[in-house]
Amino acid sequence: MSGALHVPRELLEKYATSAPRYTSYPTAVDWSKDFDPLRYPELLERASHSPEALSVYVHLPFCAELCLFCGCNVIISRSRSRMDTYLDALENEFAFVAARGVGGRKVRQYHWGGGTPTQLSLAQMERVQNAFNRAFTLADDAEVAVEVDPRVTTTDQVKWLAENRFNRVSLGVQDFEPAVQQAIKRVQSEEQTRKIIDAARAAGIPSINVDLIYGLPEQTIDSFARTIERVIAIRPERIALFHYAHVPWMKKHQNVLETDRAPSSADKLTIFTRAVEQFQAAGYVYIGLDHFALPTDELALALKERKLQRNFMGYTTRRGGDMVSLGVSSIGDVSGAFVQNAPVEAEYLRLIKERGFATHRGHELSAEDALRRDVIVGLMCNGVLLKSEIEARHGIVFDTTFAAELTALEPLAGDGLLKLDPDAVRLTDLGQVFMRNAALPFDRYFAARAARGGDTGRTFSKTL
Ligand code: SF4
Repeated sequence: MSGALHVPRELLEKYATSAPRYTSYPTAVDWSKDFDPLRYPELLERASHSPEALSVYVHLPFCAELCLFCGCNVIISRSRSRMDTYLDALENEFAFVAARGVGGRKVRQYHWGGGTPTQLSLAQMERVQNAFNRAFTLADDAEVAVEVDPRVTTTDQVKWLAENRFNRVSLGVQDFEPAVQQAIKRVQSEEQTRKIIDAARAAGIPSINVDLIYGLPEQTIDSFARTIERVIAIRPERIALFHYAHVPWMKKHQNVLETDRAPSSADKLTIFTRAVEQFQAAGYVYIGLDHFALPTDELALALKERKLQRNFMGYTTRRGGDMVSLGVSSIGDVSGAFVQNAPVEAEYLRLIKERGFATHRGHELSAEDALRRDVIVGLMCNGVLLKSEIEARHGIVFDTTFAAELTALEPLAGDGLLKLDPDAVRLTDLGQVFMRNAALPFDRYFAARAARGGDTGRTFSKTL
């Protein structure tokens, strides 16, 4: 994106709605109820014949304390033996997957998420890594990422990560202001954050990502602008600026959060637009949705070359057909089907013990799902849909298949968010901010839910 971006407030107000984030299409709430979880071994075996590289995600759910805003699948525990029991199951799951032959494919994207992976001891981290190494082989150019919490991570762990080829460290920061940190029960000094970033850089880890959240209690326009200044001074390669997703009907602990002390909707819009301006003034490229990257970062380079991808790990530059995911609640994408492991620890442990894999639900993509997923990913990642490419991949006539969707996009075109050219749908720079709105007309499940009178506001997070 070139030049400073001005986001008019009236457009933000007009297009503020609730919509999926499209790390998958269909989104998990729309998966079929008919999927047979026992098909997972067969899906893995089929995936073993693909020549493409693979993505592997490992969910390490333990955290020392619960942050009140948290929306992840976590286990709050400091018990080493409980972690070891979990790792016993994880090792078995790795072995089960490897025995289905899929480990013959090189891994180009490998990610530890959580929870807090560095809540494990060094010896426990080694157990996970040894299990991975027995099952898989990393490609030479693999992206190897880990989420860390600076409050519990040691410099020895950071050194170990670098020695084990981790090349991206993602740190939760959320907000540097003490009043906000108190309100969200996550007190983390700037020194703690800087110490881990300095250690990662000293160890040779080339990419640092910082996560921020706006819309939290005690945040003000000025206080959050100060946090952003402090983050910019640290100069992480990537920044994710998430809108706080308040879903207490799914995450009961969020009820405790004093949302009446959170910024108003109008102030949140100002916080967001000011953040975009601050990051751009500091030289960051707006990747889209909630991501910013330095121009030299591969995300920014891939955006330029229309090579961005999106999967359950978020934006990525690594094209990989299948994603094998391990651990409680993890979601994979294997042989044209989404699969999710049991979300509760006891059930995950039981299923691994009984049958070696813990798949409890999934969704096989139909040809129409695959087409719409391609369209939505194209818009969300690269801001352009070349009709001829979609037609060649799916054997359709774009303007005929998507006549109603193109009509639905006309108001967005009228507001300058996209261009409806004869050969393509192109988001404008301004439209990058509204890409979820542009994707929505292509989501036939969302349309069906709305037509049924379903409460999309309680199902999906706010777009802005
Ligand atoms: S450290 Fe992260 S995963 Fe753990 S409770 Fe806090 S926000 Fe959730």
